[in-house]
Amino acid sequence: MVDIISRASWGARSPRNRVTTTWNRRTEFFVHYADGPTTQTPRDIQRYHMGKQGWADIGYNFLVDAQGHAYEGRGWLTVGAHAVGHNTSGIGVCFIGYDGDATAAARRTIRALYDEANRRAGRTLAMRGHRDVNSTDCPGDQLYRWVRAGMPVNGSGGSTPPPTSETTAPRFPLRSGWYFGPRSGPNASVSGYYSHRSDLRTWQRRMRDRGWSLAADGLYGPRTRSVALAFQREKHLAIDGLIGPETWRAAWTSPIT
Ligand SMILES: [Zn+2]
Repeated sequence: MVDIISRASWGARSPRNRVTTTWNRRTEFFVHYADGPTTQTPRDIQRYHMGKQGWADIGYNFLVDAQGHAYEGRGWLTVGAHAVGHNTSGIGVCFIGYDGDATAAARRTIRALYDEANRRAGRTLAMRGHRDVNSTDCPGDQLYRWVRAGMPVNGSGGSTPPPTSETTAPRFPLRSGWYFGPRSGPNASVSGYYSHRSDLRTWQRRMRDRGWSLAADGLYGPRTRSVALAFQREKHLAIDGLIGPETWRAAWTSPIT
């Protein structure tokens, strides 16, 4: 359970109107950030959303501050204004601050809200960062990486179970004997040169989430090759710079160091 500071407690204004949805329709959980100082209050944010933005109410379903307090925004089942096209399906939680200010306490509370949402929905909602669906930096690189890692929380005292450390890798997408490699290679070497392959993008994105710097462009180019080489060296895999089943899988299953 997570303690939520009610609207009455933080002095919320009444909404201009409310549209509700149902747990059946809730399928995703969005993390946002306020992209501003941690000293903002829910009232400041509501004033901005109802004033300049002209919205019916504060946009988010919940807000979490750096101390780890949770504030009721629109609540569990009111349609928010936080992710265009996903306000009926998605619950939006905003961290009040820049993503670098998201303390362990704040992350624990965001995670607890996620767990509580799953409990109420009776199933597992998809974890998303705002940038997954709209063109925005939100929730910032650091918080986004945390979301993509499955919102892990450490430490004790919370009701949130510790995360499992293993992740399941998606199935290696190429046929047996084939690999992602340079365009100059044989047939079995898939470069994505003509098609910018979405499967290669998946691996590149995963490597970015692990902290490597490379473009998720679906192309096997020099940068992807050098990242593959360095990663293979670090994980004691065969060092050939090619992305076959081993190197593919290790991106998910080997510990991030
Ligand atoms: Zn956002």
